[in-house]
Amino acid sequence: MMNKGILVVVSGFSGVGKGTVTRKLIDKYDNYVLSVSATTRSPREGEVHGVHYFFKTVDDFKEMINKNEFLEYANYAGNFYGTPWSFVNEQMEKGNNVILEIDLQGALNIKSQLPDTPLVFIVPPSIDELKDRLINRGTETKEQIEKRLKATKKEALDIDKYDYILPNIDIDTCVTDLNSIIVGEHYKKSKQEELIKLLKEQSENL
Ligand code: 5GP
Repeated sequence: MMNKGILVVVSGFSGVGKGTVTRKLIDKYDNYVLSVSATTRSPREGEVHGVHYFFKTVDDFKEMINKNEFLEYANYAGNFYGTPWSFVNEQMEKGNNVILEIDLQGALNIKSQLPDTPLVFIVPPSIDELKDRLINRGTETKEQIEKRLKATKKEALDIDKYDYILPNIDIDTCVTDLNSIIVGEHYKKSKQEELIKLLKEQSENL
């Protein structure tokens, strides 16, 4: 019996290293895929259309909203971000776990639609360290960094809405621990309905 994959939401403050954690998770273990979001923000250096994001114009993004093509979408720091539903569903049917790297708003939208979805929040060793990492990354302007730190302040208030709080102190430990969380999620009774049914049927004949 092939198990269906599960959907997992991974969030974290901007600059916490969640992108690296999820990439390493996908490289290290089988049956993981990253959901590719659509966004209206401009590509950063090295970002590839269709791999990191589907880069869209605001008009194209709005058309996708009108056609109900998103599982959820949100506006973050002045840009639209959204999760195409068809991709997620196809991958789960194939047995792949789908990692959604989205913000708090998106995480809560998913949870309200699909309450079984585990929400994981990756945290830094400290907020000072987070600030240093964000500045040293050098991919944002000073103004953009200010915007992101403001978003961080707001997000910090809602950390306890997540199911798992995962510190990123050592990256490899963080990756291994994230896999353990997801493996554990597969054994929840809500994810084992077929097996439960089968075992009940088989035990009737004892
Ligand atoms: P970035 O511009 O740094 O790639 O992403 C900015 C924020 O948007 C991050 O917090 C990221 O998690 C979030 N984000 C990325 N894709 C999506 C999405 O599909 N939906 C929502 N709601 N947020 C997203």
